[in-house]
Amino acid sequence: MSTWIQELPTLRLACQTLHIGSIQPSITRRVRTGDRRARGSSLFHRMKSSSPHQADFNVFRSVADIRQYVKGRRAQRPGHTFGLVPTMGALHQGHLALATAAAKENDEVVVSIYVNPTQFGVKEDLSSYPRTFDSDLQKLAKLREALEDSGEAHGNISCIFAPTTQEIYPTLPPTSEPEGHGSFVTIAPMGSLLEGATRPVFFRGVATVCMKLFNIVSADRVYFGQKDGQQAALIKRMVQDFHLDTEVRVLPTTREADGLAMSSRNVYLGTRRRQAAIILPHRLQAIANKYVQYGECDRHKLLKDFPNCDPDQDHSRIIEPYGPVSFRMDYVSLADLDTMQEIDKVDKSKGAILSAAMIMFPLENSQPNENLGESGGAQRNVRLIDNIILPRQP
Ligand code: AMP
Repeated sequence: MSTWIQELPTLRLACQTLHIGSIQPSITRRVRTGDRRARGSSLFHRMKSSSPHQADFNVFRSVADIRQYVKGRRAQRPGHTFGLVPTMGALHQGHLALATAAAKENDEVVVSIYVNPTQFGVKEDLSSYPRTFDSDLQKLAKLREALEDSGEAHGNISCIFAPTTQEIYPTLPPTSEPEGHGSFVTIAPMGSLLEGATRPVFFRGVATVCMKLFNIVSADRVYFGQKDGQQAALIKRMVQDFHLDTEVRVLPTTREADGLAMSSRNVYLGTRRRQAAIILPHRLQAIANKYVQYGECDRHKLLKDFPNCDPDQDHSRIIEPYGPVSFRMDYVSLADLDTMQEIDKVDKSKGAILSAAMIMFPLENSQPNENLGESGGAQRNVRLIDNIILPRQP
């Protein structure tokens, strides 16, 4: 397969677990002898850990506690910087790459783990979204050790912010109804394009929870993945329009060896749909190559080979030795990087963003011993999104 186009550093987000073990009001921490960097403030009391991995981090459940911690650290050490990595947990290498970048660029890193209810539509998979808190902490603890051992990172992944929904939405129960009541951030029209067209409350929920997290942690830098390109553009716009005092850092998409973008939802695919899923990055890459290698800028010529995006037309592929996989291409988009508005021609001095979404339908049959994906994955629709930045060209 042709090489991946280098994506521009530029920005998805965060959220809550209703399940998190024994909810401790404040923080849990362990300080190892010989630590190269302090892991937390001695101002803060230690709590008995309910999990061996929680013991490695300051785990905050409440807004007041994390605020107090950040303030205290800054008061102790003028110029001390914080990076925030908002996530919904179910961490994979993509999330860890964000945490790594944050540790290289800041003194301390807060990773938030919160499955935000308001970005899920009423019919979407909030209750079944993977919640893997202990293994998330395990992965972060391993990463932190590797960074310490290599001396690669200047800063330290010190804090986990895993609030309850009552903390995040203090006055009203959060709603997923488009007309529901509540205090929300909406970014129009960007929030209703592309992903927003079929998920009307998604970007309202993302912008709202990010605004809350940014206000709570007051990080110097916030870290997002280009994997969710529209989200990245939306967060940048929100930070600009609301004069938020933080720098948005967007890191390239982390991919599997065959090109599939890593995603917490990939665990639902199972072997057969996992193999079929690579059509998404491969087709996007083929289009991107036309731009990079041949200088093609015309929208029609670039997109003409992409599978038909007629919402009424489903596609099917046979994956040997298993059988058919059915899917639909929800959209393919060639858009302006900052506004996400569709364009007819790529302006080489600006570049563009090429993105697409596909829905993989449940399997109609299964073979003996076939891996059907986790949590009854084969029975559910799995939505995959991906994008490639078409870089500026001289
Ligand atoms: P999520 O937990 O899915 O809300 O994602 C949290 C953050 O990780 C968002 O900024 C995502 O864009 C980012 N992210 C998710 N998958 C990837 C990936 N494959 N590569 C880079 N960043 C990612």
